[in-house]
Amino acid sequence: MGIEFENLIRLQQIDNELRELSSFLESLPAREKDIDKKIETASAEVEKAREKLSLNQKKRRELEGEAQDLREKIKKYKHQLNEVKTNLEYRSLLKEIEETQQRIDKIEEEIIAKLLEADEIEEEIKKVSSEVAQVKELAEKEKEALHRQQQLAEDKKKQLLEEKSQLTPQIPPDQLELYHKIAAKRQGIALSPVHDEFCSLCHMRIRPQVINELKAGQTIILCENCGRILYWEELSEEETESSKQAVKS
Ligand SMILES: [Zn+2]
Repeated sequence: MGIEFENLIRLQQIDNELRELSSFLESLPAREKDIDKKIETASAEVEKAREKLSLNQKKRRELEGEAQDLREKIKKYKHQLNEVKTNLEYRSLLKEIEETQQRIDKIEEEIIAKLLEADEIEEEIKKVSSEVAQVKELAEKEKEALHRQQQLAEDKKKQLLEEKSQLTPQIPPDQLELYHKIAAKRQGIALSPVHDEFCSLCHMRIRPQVINELKAGQTIILCENCGRILYWEELSEEETESSKQAVKS
């Protein structure tokens, strides 16, 4: 009726891994959303530039229309020049023509400015579009990698659950119950290895005679501070920094 420390330790390892895998799997939808967001943001830049271009073109068409109307007006004035009766009327018509021509000149300058601006916007669209293509390509790769990781995590989870279902019947029910009770209270960690004079999880100092009992491994001893099941873990010199490795052997 010994204490199944080895199996309890393995159970703890499995539960720890399962917890990590679950939280990884739960984080995936948000990560995928982040990637989609990157694509959306980049695409929105192109959309913005396209809207700017269409606004520019609309404004240019308006200006061209205005200039055309004014040219028609000048034609009409020139026609009227032949029909005026007085010098005064003649001079005022000439003045009208001159002023209208000045307005046309000004509008034509604006049209040229719009054309130059359109060239710039088109360049911008080209540049941003190629950036979007890059972002998309990268994002697709990121998603593929995520899906591969997801598959691996799911496979691993299945494998661990299977191992767990074979492992638990080998642990006496009272020990298993205690394990679950403590795990539920301590964020899933029911066991704490000891390899010096401290509980490795809460760092409570352990009395020397308790350490001797731990080394004997015949009874379950709970940490006086955190309440976890303590067990003695012998570490070789190179293993001192990585306790997990030592547990596996
Ligand atoms: Zn403790």
